[in-house]
This record gives sequence, structure tokens and C-alpha cells, in this order.
Amino acid sequence: MLGFMDLQSLLDDLAREVAPFAAQGKVADYIPALAAVDPTRFGIALAMTDGQLYGSGDWRVPFSIQSVSKAFSLALVLARDGEALWKRVGREPSGNPFNSLVQLEYEKGIPRNPFLNAGALILIDRLLSLTGDSLGTLRDFLRAESGNPTVDIDPEVAASEATHGHRNAALAHFMASCGNLENPVERVLDHYFRQCALTMSCADLAKAGLFLANHGLRADGSRLLTRSEAKRINSIMLTCGTYDAAGDFAYRVGLPGKSGVGGGILAVLPERGVLCVWSPALDPHGNGVAGVEALDRFTTRTGWSIF
Ligand code: GLN
Repeated sequence: MLGFMDLQSLLDDLAREVAPFAAQGKVADYIPALAAVDPTRFGIALAMTDGQLYGSGDWRVPFSIQSVSKAFSLALVLARDGEALWKRVGREPSGNPFNSLVQLEYEKGIPRNPFLNAGALILIDRLLSLTGDSLGTLRDFLRAESGNPTVDIDPEVAASEATHGHRNAALAHFMASCGNLENPVERVLDHYFRQCALTMSCADLAKAGLFLANHGLRADGSRLLTRSEAKRINSIMLTCGTYDAAGDFAYRVGLPGKSGVGGGILAVLPERGVLCVWSPALDPHGNGVAGVEALDRFTTRTGWSIF
């Protein structure tokens, strides 16, 4: 087992080594508020199941978590609703971009998986029906698990997404036309845009994700998910969490992961801990270039992958 000093110096080495990779990517500019983020930022945090926390670079700097939030939404819906979800959304990789419209029409308004934008809209719709406040339920959960009561949305990012969210609106309206939404389109979109605009640091996210490494047990020891449900969420992260780059991510990193266009990626080391990286310059699939490189080097050097 690697000790405290080894892990800390490994994260410091990775932060230094992957810095040049930022030049290979581009910040998400289809959401104007995200275009202003400095592309050279880099943070990495590792929260261990034994309570240790390590970090390097900008690991305490909050950023827009975007689609990383969808791993948490899936957990909150599965915990409340179980298998019923799978009547409304699939669990196969799509091989298509996260905001693609074309497959949704062929497949009659049933999104391929819960991490595509269309699939996440289904998660939010269901959580709205179950709780009356999808965003509030998620925010409270993230605050509790990260131990950071200040976790909140960035209203400027949320407004920017709403103004430029035509594609997401198209996905939601199409699913409504197929009878696959329970709540009004505008309400679902409002919760979706604000959820994507939640702001957290690598340290917050790594801690918040620990239940995925802990077979479904929350920070206070209570159970959110059964062991089998936690396994299923990790499996979907492995196969679908980085969209049409999921095969390449699995090949390089060998861990379940969930990315977002803010540049964050959460990666689960079952029973050991959770890594979170932040690198806003993205590859064409919407995954942070330096972050994927750091995760690749981390699992290569430690041997800590699921394979
Ligand atoms: N808010 C983003 C969108 O709707 C989320 C996409 C992502 O992070 N992959 O396009």
C-alpha cells in the first residue's frame, strides 16, 4: 500500500507533468459563461475511504461541475425508485455525442443511457416527481457528503445555459412528445440548467463520491444504495460516463469515470477511494485533456485500476 508521502508526491508530480496537455484542448464555449475560464487551471484530489485526503494544484478551487452531477442524480433516483427507471432510459453506450438528437428520434424518445443530456433530463424529471425539488435534493446531498455547506450554483452559468440551451430544450420537447416526461418541459430544463451550474472543488467532489467506492454507504455510515446498486452505477460510469470516448477512457484509465464540460472528471477506485481532476481545456468529446492524462498516469503508476 502506498503511504501518505508517496501519494502526495505522486499527485504533485502528475500536476506538474500534465500541465502542457492543456494546450491540446479547448474550453467549452457553447456555454458562454464557461468560455471565460482559464484553460491552464489544473487540480487533482484523492479522497480515500479511510478518511485521508490528498490534493495538488487547484484542487480547492470551485468549478462548474456540469455533467459530473449526473452520476449523483442517478444514485438519488435509483435509491428511491429502483429498477423502474429502466423503462424510461437505457443503459447502453451511445457512441454519439452527449447532446446528440438523432438517436433519440430513432429510439422513440428513450435515451440510450442516463448520462447523455437526454438521459439526465429523465433523471431530473423523475427526481422532481419523487421529491418536488430535484436540484434542492441533489444540492443537500452534495453538501452533506462533501462536508461543505456552501456548495451552491453559479447563477451566471445557469443563466448562460438557459439562454443557449436550445439543444437541451429540443431533447426535452422531443421526449415530451413521446410521452416520456412527467413534468412540464420548462420545469425540467430549469432544474437541469441549475444542476449543471453547481460549483464544487476537486476536494468537494472526491469526498462527495465516496459512497460509490464504499458499496453505497454515505459519509455518516447510513446506506444510500445497496451494494448491487452501487456496482451498477459504477458499471454505467465505466461504459457511458465519458460519452463517445468511454472505450478510450476505459482503455487508458481502467476506472469508472464521469466527466463534465466544466473540465471535471470523477473516477472511482472501488474500496480505496475517489479521484477528481479538473482541467477546463477539453478534447472533442468534452473530456478534460490534462485530466484524462493524469488519471491514465495515476492508474498506470499505482496499478490501482479495476482490472
Ligand atoms: N450543461 C451541459 C450541456 O447541457 C452539460 C454537458 C456535459 O457536461 N457533458 O450541454
